[in-house]
Amino acid sequence: MLKQGIAAISSSLSKGEISSVEITQAYLDQISRHNNDLNAYITVTAEQALAQAATADKIRSAGNAGVFTGVPIAHKDIFCTTGVKTSCGSRMLDNFIAPYNATVVEKLLASGAVMLGKTNMDEFAMGSSNETSYYGPVKNPWNRSLVPGGSSGGSAAAVAGHLCPAATATDTGGSIRQPASFCGLTGIKPTYGRVSRWGMIAFASSLDQAGTLTHSAEDSAIMLNIMAGFDPKDSTSVDLPVPDYCATLNKPLAGLRIGIPRQHFAEGLKPEVETQIRAALHEFEKLGATIKEISLENNHYSVAAYYVIAPAEASANLARYDGVRFGYRCAKPVDLEDLYKRSRAEGFGAEVKRRIMVGTYALSAGYYDAYYIKAQKVRRLIKNDFERALNEVDVIMGPTSPHTAFPLGSKTKDPVAMYLEDIYTIAVNLAGLPGISIPAGLVNGLPIGLQIVGRDFDEAKLLNIAHMFQQATDWHKQTPGA
Ligand code: GLN
Repeated sequence: MLKQGIAAISSSLSKGEISSVEITQAYLDQISRHNNDLNAYITVTAEQALAQAATADKIRSAGNAGVFTGVPIAHKDIFCTTGVKTSCGSRMLDNFIAPYNATVVEKLLASGAVMLGKTNMDEFAMGSSNETSYYGPVKNPWNRSLVPGGSSGGSAAAVAGHLCPAATATDTGGSIRQPASFCGLTGIKPTYGRVSRWGMIAFASSLDQAGTLTHSAEDSAIMLNIMAGFDPKDSTSVDLPVPDYCATLNKPLAGLRIGIPRQHFAEGLKPEVETQIRAALHEFEKLGATIKEISLENNHYSVAAYYVIAPAEASANLARYDGVRFGYRCAKPVDLEDLYKRSRAEGFGAEVKRRIMVGTYALSAGYYDAYYIKAQKVRRLIKNDFERALNEVDVIMGPTSPHTAFPLGSKTKDPVAMYLEDIYTIAVNLAGLPGISIPAGLVNGLPIGLQIVGRDFDEAKLLNIAHMFQQATDWHKQTPGA
């Protein structure tokens, strides 16, 4: 049972084969056994989870259950949760108990989901390996000497290590898709504005988007059905109807036009990864799709543009942590300036400070036009490339990452190498488009991901394509050895 996802658990619950209390307890036992080792959770909410599960069981016996009633999940520790610590992976918020639930959390709670706990993450979601967390690195369940990817590494390790059946996550430049690739999971980053950001701690507001890490596209569809939709509390959330993502999962793919960007199959891509990706593309041809090479001319500027825009927005968003209103406060400040300086110096880790400095510099008078405005112009060119390509094809496919999970500690000394981790994913955030990563093979026993990018608000199509692939293959069913 513990190797199942949402759909299977939901069906067992509805058949009465298991109760929510039983399945919740089973996951809590798994967490007690393995979390010390994986470090996937920052906080485990055992008592609350069992109480929610008991309520779910009552709702079910009264005949009022929905798909999600009684299904346990975990939340990335970037989502505010009433009464439960929300740390965002930072010492700055180690003492922060949110007074409200994020919209995503509230919606899943209302649907009857049981929260097992809050998952580890890179500090303020800045990272690609989960090694910037104040709570220590997360280990990859496939091989404990490797990173799980980041920044949603705790969510990915928890799902892949069977410490929960599914988890929420966020993606600013690749933080759902890259860990999905490294841990053998399905991870979707919806279109910017599709899911509310209210109560999701801000990193780079024009790029951040909430999504899911699951074992299958079907599970992602079930979760997104609940999470997506307009939220008057988030001014950037989009007021468009949300389709039923489960309804179109089985649509045949005949006639699907797939574009493969030349730039995603160039230097840097590991040949063994390319072989697996090409095999996956061939699978789509068998399902009736046609493949065409396309060009994303400005893709090579995406990491550079991102590392101006994201730090600029982060420097503004993180100004609120001043030691005064909430979060970490230094001991015995001598005056206000000392309070600000020491609270921020002691509360933030090195990577967060680096971003604040880069962002503050890029936004300062005299440099604003040279860096920030320029980066925004490049962002438009990147978006134009996608628009042009997506006029000719229905979706774009390629590798999610050029390689499999890398050893813990191997990139921590080299920020640029770490930044290049998101070489294929970051442009998708700059363009605001939806993207999904699905397991597409194993290289030396480690999972690799196929990225599928669609037009604005085309999540239903991405999930349909991913689901059909998962009906034809079983890469998504591979799990880490004992
Ligand atoms: N790795 C990128 C960064 O460090 C993206 C992180 C994310 O998507 N949250 O900023």
